[in-house]
Amino acid sequence: MHIYIHVPFCTSKCPYCAFGSFSDKFSLAKSYFRALKLEVRDFLAKNPHAQISTLFIGGGTPSAVDAGLYDEIFALLAPHFTAKAEISSEANPNSASPAWLRAMCELGVNRISFGAQSFNDAKLKFLGRAHSAAQIFLAVQNAKAAGFDNINLDLIYASKFDDKRNLKFEMDALARCEVPHLSAYALSLEENTPFFGRESFKRESVALAKFLFALAADSGFRQYEISNFAARGLRCKHNLAYWRGEDYVGFGAFAVGTSAQMRLSSPKNLQDYIADPLQKQREALSAQDKKLERIFLGLRCVLGFEAQILDAAELSNAQLLVREKKLKFAEGKFYNLNFLLADEIALFITQESRHGR
Ligand code: SF4
Repeated sequence: MHIYIHVPFCTSKCPYCAFGSFSDKFSLAKSYFRALKLEVRDFLAKNPHAQISTLFIGGGTPSAVDAGLYDEIFALLAPHFTAKAEISSEANPNSASPAWLRAMCELGVNRISFGAQSFNDAKLKFLGRAHSAAQIFLAVQNAKAAGFDNINLDLIYASKFDDKRNLKFEMDALARCEVPHLSAYALSLEENTPFFGRESFKRESVALAKFLFALAADSGFRQYEISNFAARGLRCKHNLAYWRGEDYVGFGAFAVGTSAQMRLSSPKNLQDYIADPLQKQREALSAQDKKLERIFLGLRCVLGFEAQILDAAELSNAQLLVREKKLKFAEGKFYNLNFLLADEIALFITQESRHGR
């Protein structure tokens, strides 16, 4: 079983961010965590034999709140962790203090994902980040000292700062951190954010993305998803489960989960969630929705997807792509040979079924 916990607090709001997070609602943190505890307790009462193999605490910024707030949640969940459970928390370099990192490690967190985003201070400022490059190095050092080995750094690329020179600079700095995981996301200009529509803020090109992927490979990372790279085989098990289409449970405001062909969404408003943390919006997922998701997600990562989920027309489209050497077919599955073409390929395979034949 896979669990996601959403922590909707941030020390400041980045102007490109469309996630459910607030920098002005810390006064609600205690009641939010009380509501979380109610939700977790209710779930475990209904699922007393739950075996949790991955837990991901995301947000928002989990390190923006006191580590002590997690105690009671972990007390409830810990008896359900499998022996090798991957327990991840996101954190930001400016708020993950040595004490916070040590406390989370003691609670059982064994993977830390830092929102580093860039080692270029001018680019960090442009992105509205609350930390400096120096703080990233320090945070990684503190995480290692606290006992974390499995550390991810998130980077943003395809911003106006990103030419080959800057990407080389970013990857050289990242290599100095000696972490086993990198998530590199192209900047996207999301609706309802100050960056929306500011096309000049972006510099996106296939050549630059390929250049970044090559630099990651040179630093010993193997790409296993369009935005994710692992060294020492330390892939993120939680995300892999999601890409495999496995069900997951979401706790907290803004959290989404899936269960037996249903998507369950929590309120997108802190007060509403705190008032009733058990309310969920339910949306039935059709077999067609699930299939399209399998195809889109499978093509973005090394997992691929099973040929048997395709209908005759889709199968013929996929086989055509195998002949054109855009896909590989092995042991009943199709695999994408170029993640940057994932969406295009998915659209090509499913073109008629999406138009409601
Ligand atoms: S720290 Fe992360 S979640 Fe918070 S505003 Fe910035 S990008 Fe969004």
